[in-house]
Amino acid sequence: MIRPIAFVSALIVAVAFASTGCQQTKNEVNDSDNKTIKILATTTIIEDLLKNIGGDGFEYSALMGPGVDPHIYKPTQGDLKKLKNSDVIFFNGLYLEGKMTDILVKMRRDKKVIAASDALDKSLFINDTEFDDGFDPHFWFDVSMWSEVAGYFATQLIELDPSQETVIKQNLATYQSQLVALNEDINSLITAIPESRRFVITSHDALNYFARKYSFQVRSLQGRSTAGELGLKDIREMVDFLTENQIKAIFPENITGSQSLQAVIDGCAKKGHTVAMGEELFSDALGGPDSEAPDYLSMLKINTERIINALQ
Ligand SMILES: [Zn+2]
Repeated sequence: MIRPIAFVSALIVAVAFASTGCQQTKNEVNDSDNKTIKILATTTIIEDLLKNIGGDGFEYSALMGPGVDPHIYKPTQGDLKKLKNSDVIFFNGLYLEGKMTDILVKMRRDKKVIAASDALDKSLFINDTEFDDGFDPHFWFDVSMWSEVAGYFATQLIELDPSQETVIKQNLATYQSQLVALNEDINSLITAIPESRRFVITSHDALNYFARKYSFQVRSLQGRSTAGELGLKDIREMVDFLTENQIKAIFPENITGSQSLQAVIDGCAKKGHTVAMGEELFSDALGGPDSEAPDYLSMLKINTERIINALQ
């Protein structure tokens, strides 16, 4: 992976300068009178949660659009403007956003930058040495953890605009009950597959929290970041694993290509084991507004349905 270090450094300096220049400090966000507070989320998944909790009282945008891979995301000149113009930024907090993470942490000196991971006790995170802080950042796939993040975001939004406290609290209660219902739906859907056959094989390991919660085993070709190199050995090992465990399907993701998965399917066929390419799973980004996963609730539901359909 080519990392645009020079550009990123320039961006950090430029953002720091821009932030100082417009004197946008934490305290002054509240003083913006009747102007709607501008919230910038890094990913569509975070933006969706904020919209559900904040409702109509804030203005939202996401830096990375639908289907964009956050691990290898390279900030653009346009992003500088978006970061500068927002009143508050919400991001994952672990190393999901790759190089962007360091920019965001530095920006905390001048701007309100809120990490979703601050909502959660560290003991809940799955360890992963592939990431700089040692944690797997895909925690939104644990519905209960995402509910805790919802509560934390509500507290932060109320702090930003105390006049909206009542409606934010109502939104939170509604959304958290939808998350409880979603968890029940997933639990009842997965009973169709015995635990011994609950395997989810994808391009990159986004589903470890989902696997822990719903007793699946997950394997991936690339590890938990999409930035890793993929070799023939990885494909050969995956072919052996699928053949030995008689796994019937593997799944492409909306943020990465499926060529390497096709190589695995072809390799299994040569060994006399038929593997199907399952329907696309939504992993690190939502789908577009016309997709089957324009929001978090539908993303979790459609992923589960697609996994069950392929493994049945
Ligand atoms: Zn990922």
